[in-house]
Amino acid sequence: MTSEPASHFAQVLRVLNGERVPLDSRSSKTLRFMLESSEGCDVLLEPGRFEVRFGWNRARHRYSPETGTVVVSYLLGAMKAAEGAADLQGLIGPAAVPALDWLPWSYERRRVWIRRSESSVTIMIRSAETVSESPASFPEPIEFPPPVFVDLAEVLSCPTCRATSSRFRELAGGFLVCGSCGGSFVRPKGGAVQPAVAADGASPRR
Ligand SMILES: [Zn+2]
Repeated sequence: MTSEPASHFAQVLRVLNGERVPLDSRSSKTLRFMLESSEGCDVLLEPGRFEVRFGWNRARHRYSPETGTVVVSYLLGAMKAAEGAADLQGLIGPAAVPALDWLPWSYERRRVWIRRSESSVTIMIRSAETVSESPASFPEPIEFPPPVFVDLAEVLSCPTCRATSSRFRELAGGFLVCGSCGGSFVRPKGGAVQPAVAADGASPRR
């Protein structure tokens, strides 16, 4: 395998046409994140990109495109899917995944949808309570959660640009986002606003 982005995606397409690649420990770990939780996930594969949005953590998570090839190969093997079709779906699990140099793990029954084109492959995985073999329509995508805004009792001055406001977008971990400059800072518990500066000097979140 080479590391050029296009070659990994080309291999994903070959896997969809019937080629198989063996599971390795890194890919098993990524698969566990994708299959273990009943909340499912949405996956996007493009040249140079393997991105997963989990139902339990909706940010975009990027993994190595090489891992994406292995993940697709595993899913297709578990689905016993027809080769070469543009749209595939099938039930997988319950199943145990063998221990490699990582702990063994297992997952309950999941429904998997795969849609391919020449430039991208999308995969959706959802919990499947029923064993119905009849096709189910593609599910709604997992959306990024809407931003949360907070109205504070007092006006704050942004430590970066000094703009003042009492309304801010709030991020996980207690950070507020300045509406003027986009910089983030720790929400004060009273007293002065502390700029949120990571150890490397960069703003941790924007
Ligand atoms: Zn600002």
